[in-house]
Amino acid sequence: MIATLAGGVGGAKLAHGLAGCLAPEDLSVVVNTADDFEIYGLRVCPDLDTVMYTLAGIANPATGWGVAGDSFFALEMLRAYGEDTWFQIGDKDFATDILRTRMLAEGHTLTEATRALCVGVGVAPALLPMCDQPVATMIQTVDGELDFQEYFVRQHHEPTVTDVRYRDIEAARPTKPVLAALAAAEAIVFCPSNPIVSIRPILAVPGMLDALRASAAPKVAVSPIVAGSALRGPADRMLESLGHEVSAHGIAELYAGLVQGLVIDEADAALAAPIRSLGMEVLVTPTVMRNDADRQTLAGAVLGFAASLRENAR
Ligand code: GDP
Ligand code: CA
Repeated sequence: MIATLAGGVGGAKLAHGLAGCLAPEDLSVVVNTADDFEIYGLRVCPDLDTVMYTLAGIANPATGWGVAGDSFFALEMLRAYGEDTWFQIGDKDFATDILRTRMLAEGHTLTEATRALCVGVGVAPALLPMCDQPVATMIQTVDGELDFQEYFVRQHHEPTVTDVRYRDIEAARPTKPVLAALAAAEAIVFCPSNPIVSIRPILAVPGMLDALRASAAPKVAVSPIVAGSALRGPADRMLESLGHEVSAHGIAELYAGLVQGLVIDEADAALAAPIRSLGMEVLVTPTVMRNDADRQTLAGAVLGFAASLRENAR
């Protein structure tokens, strides 16, 4: 069993690669749910859906989120009704949100609702929300505090981030399937997801760090920062404004003491030695996933790296 921690687009790509290397029952993807929010009366889980659509092979390749070839008639009608439709949801995507909202209203947990949706779209690996309690990433900016999607989508992640908190995280707990996956894992892979708003909320769920530390499995992370920049999104600007180094070395500093290995891009080969001196092993390999073959090649390299760390630990 391989367990992986993932946000949205960056996480989904590596999770998809791993799914191509492993039997479905040997992969569990623990997904950030601190981006989740309510809009148009529906519970929307952007990272869970991005991973689910990607694993199902129906993700929109242009955006990374949403369903390929989706139409936007429902959104158009909402606009005609006078709704402010700043958050784009396609018609097929709406169906996911409608069913999830109904299952939650019927008393099912988010974990159960996600499992049912995955069955519907034919996703076999376990897609596990980090917790069943609602948690909300709040972004402190120079202009005040914003809800995550308000910052990310409505304001195009332009405001400078001065602090990040995860509202209601104190009441959250890792779910039983998450704890079981971490306990059974032969390796735990931190996807190249945003370290501040995708991976850190997962780690911030009370009990999650204890579960990670209790696992003897090697933990390896893949750097989302390549040659000093994020491949997309605000991770680089966020790291900088929060006082972190914007490099694979900065990622290593964030995960030091928690992971035993970091996978960095060939473009960052010169950082391998300084990262090793932080007390972790380094694998230098191409990490930019442009297509399905890249995803699977990187996933294979990550699994091989984790296996070598397991051997060394013997
Ligand atoms: P989000 O929730 O949709 O923002 O996605 P994630 O948090 O999972 O991923 C965002 C991060 O993925 C960004 O910081 C990107 O730099 C990183 N990323 C995206 N594609 C790739 C890739 O192909 N390789 C690597 N190494 N990082 C990537
Ligand atoms: Ca996200």
